[in-house]
Amino acid sequence: MAADVRQIEDPILSVQGLTVAFDTEAGPVRAVEKVGFTLIKGRTLGIVGESGCGKSVTALSIMRLLPQPMSRIEGGQVVLDGIDLVALPAESMQTIRGASVAMIFQEPMSALNPVHTLYKQISEPLRIHRPELSKGELKREVIRLLTDVGIPDAEGRLSAYPHQLSGGMRQRVMIAMALALSPAILIADEPTTALDVTVQAQILDLIRRIQTNSGMSVIFITHDLGVIAEQCDDVVVMYAGKVVERAGASTLFADPKHPYTQGLLASMPRLDAPRKTRLATISGQVPGLMDLPPGCRFQNRCPHVMERCRSEVPEEVTVGEAHQVACHLYDMIGGSGKGC
Ligand code: SF4
Repeated sequence: MAADVRQIEDPILSVQGLTVAFDTEAGPVRAVEKVGFTLIKGRTLGIVGESGCGKSVTALSIMRLLPQPMSRIEGGQVVLDGIDLVALPAESMQTIRGASVAMIFQEPMSALNPVHTLYKQISEPLRIHRPELSKGELKREVIRLLTDVGIPDAEGRLSAYPHQLSGGMRQRVMIAMALALSPAILIADEPTTALDVTVQAQILDLIRRIQTNSGMSVIFITHDLGVIAEQCDDVVVMYAGKVVERAGASTLFADPKHPYTQGLLASMPRLDAPRKTRLATISGQVPGLMDLPPGCRFQNRCPHVMERCRSEVPEEVTVGEAHQVACHLYDMIGGSGKGC
């Protein structure tokens, strides 16, 4: 396999062989299996896939925020600046979270405390991590953070409670909280899914602007390829707990290799399509994690399925510069493979 050139650019986070299991009434299931990718400093990586594909579990594993005690990281590494976060004691993760890696979620109310004012919530991490700040400096810093994320009359809002804000404003407050300690990496898990289209565009714009100004690296978790096209430099496509394709965003959109990625792209609405064109869909359902077939997990939906797909698990092969795909259509002739 050829080297992934992005791995020798300037990686800030490297996930290798990540495997996560959940205990269920029917026994343990692997929600994520041998997932690997690299986030490059200053770039945006999108993780895309249908719900239940393991993208949020991957994000929570990086943060070591998996629900306890029913889930665990069974194998693999999450290496941040040379430190394997999987091997760190829980107490050490508290200094990583917020300061090195921060996360924002789809529903801000799940992260904001409804009974505390904005000032109390945003100043909290600053109080803990920067005890040298005086009361006045702390207040100025909170006002600056709220202003930076576009909250009008930031000073006047310090004593407001989350329920007094609109959904878009709450999302801005959550971003302000996430940015309080200037993290090197921001993980955004479907941050705009619950918002209307105009507010969605404003929030995406805000994240892009913050990234340009700060040089922060971003991981975008989404089911929306439109968001990926707008925001991301690199893309990881996940299906049923596995990575099926990795590439630069422009490569992925111009030359998708995996039949699942091709299906996702075909189901995207296009402005240049004739009116009343029906959108393509991927037939069938994602298999349940308790019910995974042997071989390729996409076999029951794949228009190119072959005999060997029913029994052999496809390994990732390199099909172009920084372009990897896990599909038997491409592993027959040393990774150069054939297209579908
Ligand atoms: Fe389709 Fe086989 Fe490739 Fe799976 S391995 S995506 S079933 S061609």
